Amino acid sequence: MRIELIPSAVGSTALGGSTGLAQFLTSIRIGDSICLDAGSIGYHADLDLQRSVRHVFLSHSHIDHTASLPMLLDNVFGVHPEGVHIYLTKEVETALREDLFNDRTWPDFIRISEEGPQPLLTLHRIEPDLPVVVEGITITPISVDHVVPTVGFVVDDGNSAIVVATDTGPSQTLWDVANAIPHLKAVLLEASFPEELSWLADVAKHLTPRLFAEEIGKLAGDPTLFALHLKATHRDEIIAELERAGVDRLVIMEPGTPYEV
Ligand SMILES: [Zn+2]
Ligand SMILES: [Zn+2]
Repeated sequence: MRIELIPSAVGSTALGGSTGLAQFLTSIRIGDSICLDAGSIGYHADLDLQRSVRHVFLSHSHIDHTASLPMLLDNVFGVHPEGVHIYLTKEVETALREDLFNDRTWPDFIRISEEGPQPLLTLHRIEPDLPVVVEGITITPISVDHVVPTVGFVVDDGNSAIVVATDTGPSQTLWDVANAIPHLKAVLLEASFPEELSWLADVAKHLTPRLFAEEIGKLAGDPTLFALHLKATHRDEIIAELERAGVDRLVIMEPGTPYEV
């Protein structure tokens, strides 16, 4: 399975690289056609890459995970007869209808799709613990602990499975699920704040490197561990603290780099 954290920013930056390592927004592409979250995918400079996306799973309604959805739908319009398939919980659907596609923030693409001759999107309701199969890949939402209703995902192609939790405080459910997967190859887990902002991590229900290490301590087996959702202005500090925490098999996930798992 090929996974890639879609870059948030293009251009040379203080953090280096042509795409920049700073991550403000979250989208994780699975293969070519599936995306977890739509924070940055609709801002990608490669329109052919955007047009290959057919399925978007939304973890929650926060804007760093939904910001580029309107642009993605614009950019993919007309490519597929049903538009982009959007998979979302009841709470996220309410947020999209009331806060994003409300004709003020952006045209109501949901109503236009439901009433018009050519949809920009097709909505699919998802619920925690109920798997969905798309393009031969099984994706199961798992409830996590964040300030709004949020799910992580298990993504399983039959040979490899990964667990993804980009926004969560400490959880037990996630690790109970992960520990029951015999072919778990990777865990993508957030490490949002440095220890000096642990009060903010607690309030916002995110992890610091110490909490990241504690969460990984609940995990059996030896999957590769990808840290992501590092606040850009604290990236170096978070990485240093993760290294000091002594987590084995740790990879700091780089935006724009495809990984095979
Ligand atoms: Zn969030
Ligand atoms: Zn987030």
